[in-house]
Amino acid sequence: MIEDLKKQIFEKILEYDTIIIHRHIRPDGDCLGSTIGLREILRASFPNKKIYSVGNNDTEYLHFIGLEDQIDDSLYKDALVIIVDTATDNRIFDERYKLGKFTIKIDHHIPIQDYANINYVRTDFPATCAVICDFYKTFEEHLTLPKSAALPLFVGMVTDTGRFKYRGVSGNVMRLAGMLLDYELDIEDIYARLYMKTKEIYKLQGYVYNKFKTTSHGVSYIYLSRNKQKKFKVDHHEAANLVNSLDSIKDSLIWMIFVEQPDKSIRVRLRSRFIAIDDIANQFNGGGHAQASGATVYSKREMKKLIAIADEKLRIFKLTNKDVF
Ligand code: AMP
Repeated sequence: MIEDLKKQIFEKILEYDTIIIHRHIRPDGDCLGSTIGLREILRASFPNKKIYSVGNNDTEYLHFIGLEDQIDDSLYKDALVIIVDTATDNRIFDERYKLGKFTIKIDHHIPIQDYANINYVRTDFPATCAVICDFYKTFEEHLTLPKSAALPLFVGMVTDTGRFKYRGVSGNVMRLAGMLLDYELDIEDIYARLYMKTKEIYKLQGYVYNKFKTTSHGVSYIYLSRNKQKKFKVDHHEAANLVNSLDSIKDSLIWMIFVEQPDKSIRVRLRSRFIAIDDIANQFNGGGHAQASGATVYSKREMKKLIAIADEKLRIFKLTNKDVF
């Protein structure tokens, strides 16, 4: 089944002269890494085809892995559209993906919607970049992977695996990452860029450490209003990045950050260890992975409801899992 899907995708790539790659809104390292990485592989392998990765380049800290393309609507006619790293069609960036002639989804999130003509989802990989590398390995004889693909693919793997620390990291994933490192990537430069934070973020991080709350069964959370973001001079993207600040609190197996958006909705980033939380995200306009999901709520009341559901889940979990920490 998997090999069959890969073959079908490869045949479609051979068939089309124009290939347009789309991604999800609010792109992260794996999202941009996989779209730009795939584009660079296809450009190097098929110099006569027109290949684009569509986006607005609004994620500045990732510009070093490559920039996205702005293209005209007319290019979609007769194009193959590959949507990468995106579980549901409402999160696809740029509605024009609908103008393509044939669509392919390549992803690693829990599949809740088959929105494309071919849907290739590998939840056994911890990053879509690993899915792309595995695809490349399968058709290695017919494809070229240049250094301009190795860098974004490696960065995507590093970021979506929490720097190679999540359970989905297998020997195979490490071998694929090793294949990329063989391109003499500057690992010190990459990590320096990924860890760099402004003074303002450090100050806000101090606020998060001071002010986070924990429910009786161990859900830790913080709410960052627009006013707070203004006071600390950070934007909502930067504020949302602080979710990992709460990631290792003893006996707190679920943690989340609530960030008020410019349109007043509240972005939720949910994280956990040992216990799944994607079902909670699904109830609040979201989804994602078992232990890393995103959602949106529209009031403080809804926020409290979400926290209460998570707390109840932990209460039940702790009844039968005594040794958790
Ligand atoms: P985030 O906290 O936004 O980084 O999200 C964690 C993971 O869940 C990422 O892999 C996202 O792609 C995914 N995710 C976030 N929001 C949603 C959503 N509304 N629907 C489905 N997946 C989501």
